Amino acid sequence: MGLKVGFIGLGIMGQPMAMNVVKAGYEVAVYNRSVEKTKPLADAGAKVASSPREAAEGADASILMLSGPEAINTVLDGPDGLLAGMGEGTTVVNMSTVSPAYSRKLSEDLKARSIVAIDAPVSGSRKPAEEGALVILAGGPKEKVKELEPLFMAMGKKVIHCGDAGQGSSMKIAANLLLGIMVGGLSEAVNLGQKCGLSVETMLDTILSGPMGCALFEFKKEMLVTGTFSTQFPLKHMTKDLRFALQTGDESGAATPIGSTVFQLYRQSLGKGLSDMDFAAVKKVLEAMSD
Ligand code: NAP
Repeated sequence: MGLKVGFIGLGIMGQPMAMNVVKAGYEVAVYNRSVEKTKPLADAGAKVASSPREAAEGADASILMLSGPEAINTVLDGPDGLLAGMGEGTTVVNMSTVSPAYSRKLSEDLKARSIVAIDAPVSGSRKPAEEGALVILAGGPKEKVKELEPLFMAMGKKVIHCGDAGQGSSMKIAANLLLGIMVGGLSEAVNLGQKCGLSVETMLDTILSGPMGCALFEFKKEMLVTGTFSTQFPLKHMTKDLRFALQTGDESGAATPIGSTVFQLYRQSLGKGLSDMDFAAVKKVLEAMSD
């Protein structure tokens, strides 16, 4: 062990991930914009920093688990920003979901300061984060990813080295494109069945009993049956990730026709009080379109 860790961003995911790093015995300094979220970490033995800069000072690795690029830029820059506290030879581990282009640019910018950037977004939501069962999708120098593996394994069950800087983000964005399409498709099919007079329970029983049955649909079953979408992965973040998928498709030349349609669906949910619900609440958009 021996690594000193700064951890910035204690939201739905960051809170349990940071907790697992503390429990694994690392010396951790945490920072969160809304200070009240630091309390459980302080109780568990983490130092609470008053700025990103303070969290980075003396840390070998600074982990970011923030909503997206705007939040990351805010945290990195300025006199109290993370970069002001980081020394040469240290590492930024960005576990937030961002576009591959953003990760590549961050890596280039930090290289100029002799800081290594690893993009390490995660597969799995709140529950796997609590259980330390995330899958970490890492991009960046292989030796550095190997060196950080024990730290990653405090938060996850598997580390996949996807390639150079940005490739962890490429993997995450491709996976979330599929995730968004699958849950959008499930919601559309269930809504159609309901409009035909079938019950949601019977619809899901049928889908889960056949070749389309999968852990994801099983996991979303209760939400669709009860119509209560308690947040695992917020709809606003899925919309963000689909936007990154379309941008990445445009840059790479990959066609994303299904993603484009599904993005429009998720996007309609924003500003309608659904943004902070689980992304399966996209079903409510379909219901509203049907009435
Ligand atoms: P979240 O609950 O919305 O937390 C976002 C974090 O970013 C909070 O700590 C928030 O601080 C901070 N933040 C936002 N804007 C900021 C700003 N301008 N300056 C400083 N801090 C700022 O998000 P989450 O669900 O934990 O997700 C975090 C990342 O992981 C996202 O990129 C998401 O796409 C990705 N992800 C999420 C899941 C999931 O199931 N939830 C799964 C895999 C990946 P405050 O507490 O002050 O608001």
